[in-house]
Amino acid sequence: MKRTKEILKEWELYFISKYGELVCEICGRKLRFYNPGMKYDKKETVHFDHRNGGKEIIKGSPKVWLRSHNPTKENIELWQSCGFGLLCDLCNRMLPTKDREQWILQAYNYALNIREVENGKSNRIKE
Ligand SMILES: [Zn+2]
Repeated sequence: MKRTKEILKEWELYFISKYGELVCEICGRKLRFYNPGMKYDKKETVHFDHRNGGKEIIKGSPKVWLRSHNPTKENIELWQSCGFGLLCDLCNRMLPTKDREQWILQAYNYALNIREVENGKSNRIKE
């Protein structure tokens, strides 16, 4: 078994060849792959998101899985079958894994109501 650092370096090469640049799929922030042995800003690190409601074969932390699996042909196919999204730390923390569509709808409605209240207040101040 290779050392974790070597395994992650090989995965990094795979992700670079697959995506080119890693970018958060929601906010567009540029992201970096895990950098073992080096300090990195968590905000800049890619988070692999269970975007299929937790039905993915890789159930737990994708990062932990990557650390313990060499990027063999079989493992790359398994990884790809999960269809993980690429997110920054902030966007990843905001999104629930399960029932996210419902959560987004509720958050959207909430945000619209807030805007209406703010408009109402600013209108009142002008009058
Ligand atoms: Zn983001």
